[in-house]
Parts: sequence; structure tokens; C-alpha cells
Amino acid sequence: MVEPTAHGDVPSIEAFRAEVRAFLREYDARPATPGRSRRDRTRAFLAARYDAGLGALDYPVADGGRGLDRHHVDVYRTEAAHRTADDGGSGFGIGLDMCLPTIRDHGSPDLRRRFLAPGLRGDEHWCQLYSEPGAGSDLAGLTTRAVLDGDEWVVTGQKVWTSGAEHADFGILLARTDWDVPKHAGVSMLVLPMDQPGVEVRALRQMTDVAHFNEVFIDEARVPADWVVGEPGDGWRMAVALLAHERSSIGKGGGRQPVPVDRLVDLARATGRADDPVVRQDLARLATGARIIEWLNLRSGIHPSVTKLWRTRQGRDAADVTARLAYPGGVAWEGPRMGTTEPGHYADPDGSHWAYGICDARALSLGGGTDEVQRNTLGERVLGLPREPASDRDVPFSQVPRNA
Ligand SMILES: Cc1cc2nc3c(=O)[nH]c(=O)nc-3n(C[C@H](O)[C@H](O)[C@H](O)COP(=O)(O)OP(=O)(O)OC[C@H]3O[C@@H](n4cnc5c(N)ncnc54)[C@H](O)[C@@H]3O)c2cc1C
Repeated sequence: MVEPTAHGDVPSIEAFRAEVRAFLREYDARPATPGRSRRDRTRAFLAARYDAGLGALDYPVADGGRGLDRHHVDVYRTEAAHRTADDGGSGFGIGLDMCLPTIRDHGSPDLRRRFLAPGLRGDEHWCQLYSEPGAGSDLAGLTTRAVLDGDEWVVTGQKVWTSGAEHADFGILLARTDWDVPKHAGVSMLVLPMDQPGVEVRALRQMTDVAHFNEVFIDEARVPADWVVGEPGDGWRMAVALLAHERSSIGKGGGRQPVPVDRLVDLARATGRADDPVVRQDLARLATGARIIEWLNLRSGIHPSVTKLWRTRQGRDAADVTARLAYPGGVAWEGPRMGTTEPGHYADPDGSHWAYGICDARALSLGGGTDEVQRNTLGERVLGLPREPASDRDVPFSQVPRNA
């Protein structure tokens, strides 16, 4: 049963669809501000969407939301799916799809009051400070420490692969707060203000030539004592809750995109390969994959690792087909941004390089947990298979052997 909304009663699905369409139509008709970056365009869109009552659909009324259910959220997503203006792009998805829902579900009233509205409006940018040089798939082995000192946590450690940290105002941080209990039990989730002397962000350049993520060095950075999501020591449960949001968001189409099938159909035509039976079979398989992902997402209760695995597979398969169709242009890095798929040119119609799509697809199966980790999760939590053997699961973390 859904609560009435701050903006009136729960609208019927059709009334809600009309409301969304009207907002998008009106927004897209606004004159563009020349010279605005993609980030600023996204920020402006998010603010307008929030102010129109469409930015917090499944948030409780008490938190400034509409209190609507997933059917309304799905309607919004479907209606907004094909517009060109930015909607959650430019790294805002880390806040919108991951950090803020976790704070909504597990944060104290003070945290919800402080962070939800500014984050949803795009006024504040978030990053996810989970992975460390020695803790990726084995995330619970993290060694960034937080020690309570009066009314502040003092945090020291290193994070890595932190997407969007260079823009972030806040990071959702996993830190070890108790070393005398087994590894999963000693972790807490804190909200780290990024703009302070103890936080240094250094860009990491990927093989796409884009510096999408960063190393973050943390040296006695400060966090207010009550900026803990959940309870101190309950961070692993919070971490898993956020990861479920992340995997579900990736499975639903958030973040980086597989090369779209219709672009590949255009490319096959442009390169004279559209009648090749092998190419046609590849394209049919990709079109089927895209439809399967769409339909899986319509099922309620689907485990997020299932949709994430399907989407990463789609991304890799699409990249492989791209590489074969665009060859030799697909492997040539420097090419003219010609806005054409004519043979001999290296760019797709929106001017981005095929090579970018080919290289970027590899990241899909790493960010949010690797394919192997998703399969382990499904095996253990859904199929009930025996857990992976581990020698460090029940030992106090301080006694677990590790590199200095
Ligand atoms: C584009 C991108 C963006 C990212 N953004 C962020 C971010 O914003 N914040 C953040 O905290 N992290 C981020 N990450 C990090 C990401 O979560 C990690 O890369 C991922 O969890 C894997 O960890 P790792 O790189 O340390 O690899 P490792 O854990 O060292 O894994 C290496 C290989 O071993 C396999 N493996 C490891 N353990 C097992 C096991 N038990 N069973 C079977 N196989 C196993 C893995 O599948 C992988 O193939 C990002 C990564 C990418 C690529």
C-alpha cells in the first residue's frame, strides 16, 4: 500500500505517465544554455526534476519523496529512457542509484535530512570508497581504519578505482573500526567529506584514454561521529545493501553502455556486411540479449547479480562484434571524428570512437563486482551451494596474515 504523496494522492499509472511526459516535454523545450558542460546540464536537469516532484519517487513522504512504488519508477524510467538530455549521467548515478537509496533505507533521520534532498537535486556529488589495493573482490579484507576521537572519526588508508572522486563532495566509505573481531564484523560505513586536507585524489588513466577513476589517499581525515550509516560495526550489511543497488542499477542500464545494437546494424550496412549470415547471426544474438535484459528487468524480485551478468555479457559480445565489423578502423585509436560510418572512417555517428566502445566494455564486468563474484553470490545465496572455503572468516582480523 503506497502512502499519499506530498504532491497529492497516489496518481494512477496513466496519470503519472502523462505527468512525466509533460515534464520531459517542457524541460526539453527550454532553450539550451550554450557552453554548459555535460555535468552542469545533468545538474540542471536533476534540480528541475526534483523541484517538479519527480526526483524522489520511491522515497518516503517524510523524506521529501512521493512514496510511490516500483511501477511508477518503471514508468519514469521507460519514459525517460530515450531522451538525449542527461538524466543521471556524468557520474551522478553513484549518488542517485547507490549511496542515497542506502542512506534512505539505513541512515538516521539526521543523515536523511542532511543528505537526501541535496543529493537528489544534483547539488552534491557522491563517490563510492570501497575498493583498496589489497581488497577488491575480497572487500571485507579492507584495511582503511577509522578511530573515534571525541566527536569525530579519524580515517587513514587508501582507496582505489574510485569513479568520479575528482568531482565528489562526499564519499560513502567503508572503514575498519574494530580489528579484534572477524573481518566482516569490524567494518563501518561512514560519510566522508572529500573537501578536506586529509583527502588527496589522484586520477588514474584507463586504456580508453579517459581518467574515469582515481586513487584516494586518506590521511587522518575527519568525519563527524554520527555520520555512520547503520550502526558502527554493521558496515558489512550496509555494504551489501549498497552493492545490491549498484548491481541492480547496472543491470537496469545505469552507468556505462554496451555498444547499442542499432548502431551495429548501421555499421554492418555501411561496411557492406549486412547480408553476411555470420554477421546477421551475431546481430540477432545481440538483439535477443538486449530484449532478454529488458524483460528480466520487468520481473520483480530478480536477483541483481542476474541482470548485471546479462548486461556485462551483452557489453562484451557487442564489443567483440564491433571490433570485427569496424576492423581495421575499430583498432585504430586516433581517427577523425567524422560523424560517419563510411568505410575508412573510425567514428560512429555521434562522433565517438568505435575503439572507445571496444575498450570500455571490459570495465562492465569489473565495476560493481566481477562476473566470477556475481556467480559465487548466485551459487551461494540463490542456489544454496556450499560456501567457498576461507581460512580467515572466523579469525579476529588483527590475527589474519597479510602483506604489510
Ligand atoms: C570502471 C570501474 C569503476 C569502478 N568504480 C569503483 C568505485 O567507484 N568505487 C570502488 O570502490 N571500486 C570501484 N571499482 C573497483 C571494482 O569494484 C573492483 O575492480 C572489483 O571489485 C574487482 O576487484 P579487483 O580489481 O581488486 O580484482 P581482484 O579482486 O584482485 O580480482 C582479480 C581476478 O580474480 C577473480 N577473483 C577474485 N576472487 C575470486 C573468487 N573468490 N572466486 C573467483 N574468482 C575470483 C576476479 O573475478 C578477477 O577476475 C571500479 C572498477 C572499474 C573497472
